[in-house]
Amino acid sequence: MSRIVYVNGEYLPEEEATVSVFDRGFLFADGVYEVTSVLGGKLIDFDGHFQRLKRSLAELDMPAPAAMDDLLEIHRELVARNEIEDGLVYLQVTRGAPADRDFAYPGEDVAPTLVLFTQSKPGLADSPAARAGIKVISIDDIRWGRRDIKTVQLLYPSMGKMMAKKAGADDAWMVEDGFVTEGTSNNAYIVKGKKIITRNLGNEILHGITRAAVLRFAREAQMEVEERPFTIEEAKGADEAFFTSASAFVMPVVSIDGVMLGDGTPGQLTKRLREIYLDESRKTAS
Ligand code: PLP
Repeated sequence: MSRIVYVNGEYLPEEEATVSVFDRGFLFADGVYEVTSVLGGKLIDFDGHFQRLKRSLAELDMPAPAAMDDLLEIHRELVARNEIEDGLVYLQVTRGAPADRDFAYPGEDVAPTLVLFTQSKPGLADSPAARAGIKVISIDDIRWGRRDIKTVQLLYPSMGKMMAKKAGADDAWMVEDGFVTEGTSNNAYIVKGKKIITRNLGNEILHGITRAAVLRFAREAQMEVEERPFTIEEAKGADEAFFTSASAFVMPVVSIDGVMLGDGTPGQLTKRLREIYLDESRKTAS
């Protein structure tokens, strides 16, 4: 069965789906995106992702491509048509395709481009990586200054992943002015004593939808949370570390720059938080 994708109002087999070569997403990375995970055929925290999409669009003066109800319907339709049990829905909006390449934004006559597709990932919540924990390296954060906007400018995060692979690790945590900002595609946390420490929100990091939910669940479970910057040295001396993202949920980190954390296996608090996150978010999945 060919995967069905959505492009500007149409559901099409992926081979037939096209976007213009003049699309500003292609030429200028002038686009934003969201990734919503699917567990048991249901969307996890769709509302959170929709709210952040609205914010990303507003920050870039980009017109909204559709109403919330329509976007939810398209997500559900793609999940159903592609028979996704576990996986994700990727959504991308760009400033559309004007007649020519021009740095200035096009006028209102140019409609945004809206593309969605699914990726099937059977057993997404039961990944071997979550059982063993993953290794990260640290790299300089040389990205632009508006990381709070979820744009498709992902070249440096891609380079970071490749640097990690080359070093025999799984991912990279980025460091700016001595402090960890976030992972290439996730938010970073350490645990000291029983306290969860993660960088405070600002333009320096993406405001993770999973981060917001995890911190809420942690506080509800009477866990102590501190939102502040931490250094990579502090992280190497932490009792536990983990990261969060829509597709990895709560992922244990067991080594940083080759320094093993604790006994080199996922920490107790991290494992508990992963369970809580998966249980709670399944309950409200739509
Ligand atoms: N930080 C960055 C740079 C990301 O790319 C992502 C997800 O793609 C996250 C954090 C985690 O955000 P979320 O939990 O909304 O997936």
